[in-house]
Amino acid sequence: MMQDNTPFLPPAGNVYVMDSLDATKKIKAEVLKTRTKQHREIIESLACPVCGNPMSWDSKWEAFICVKHGKKAIYEMVSGG
Ligand SMILES: [Zn+2]
Repeated sequence: MMQDNTPFLPPAGNVYVMDSLDATKKIKAEVLKTRTKQHREIIESLACPVCGNPMSWDSKWEAFICVKHGKKAIYEMVSGG
């Protein structure tokens, strides 16, 4: 079984992603849903920064993926600040 590598919610609660096809700008993404794992919050659902579609984590890509606004978009999580 594949290991669950769903990312933890950062302590400040701010999540930033980067479009893997346009990795030049950091985009703030809205967290829609979290769940608790080992006493920490992990991100279960993140809103697509383009179309707002709820995206879930893809363990294989290690990213959140949106297929709802035309071209498939792969959003990698990046550190905040
Ligand atoms: Zn989208």
